[in-house]
Amino acid sequence: MNELTFFLIVFILCIVGTGVGIILLINGEELGLYLLFFAIVLGSLSGIEYFHNNKVEYCPTCHYEYKVIDDYDYCPQCNTKLTNKCDSCNKYLPDSATDTCPYCGKEIETKVGEIQNESN
Ligand SMILES: [Zn+2]
Ligand SMILES: [Zn+2]
Repeated sequence: MNELTFFLIVFILCIVGTGVGIILLINGEELGLYLLFFAIVLGSLSGIEYFHNNKVEYCPTCHYEYKVIDDYDYCPQCNTKLTNKCDSCNKYLPDSATDTCPYCGKEIETKVGEIQNESN
């Protein structure tokens, strides 16, 4: 089952849940309120998750399109560094760290937006 199918099923469940919830509410059933609330929360959460996962970013050098969820450290096409992480300990670096990693003390060889050295 792919992501889109899952999203569609959740979407349909939300519509059905909302509809049934409204009918129950009209009939004076308190359960309808819970159902309505549940459907709305489920719908917005899955919607946010879906759009977050499918958000794309572009490599600053070659404009290669990649999904945020892929979580690339380097561009698969031109090897430009995409995330400000230490190559040695893999921790996110603060902007103030330019020469050495404050976590492990290793020299920062490639900075964000630069192409990784081939000789490595
Ligand atoms: Zn690139
Ligand atoms: Zn480090």
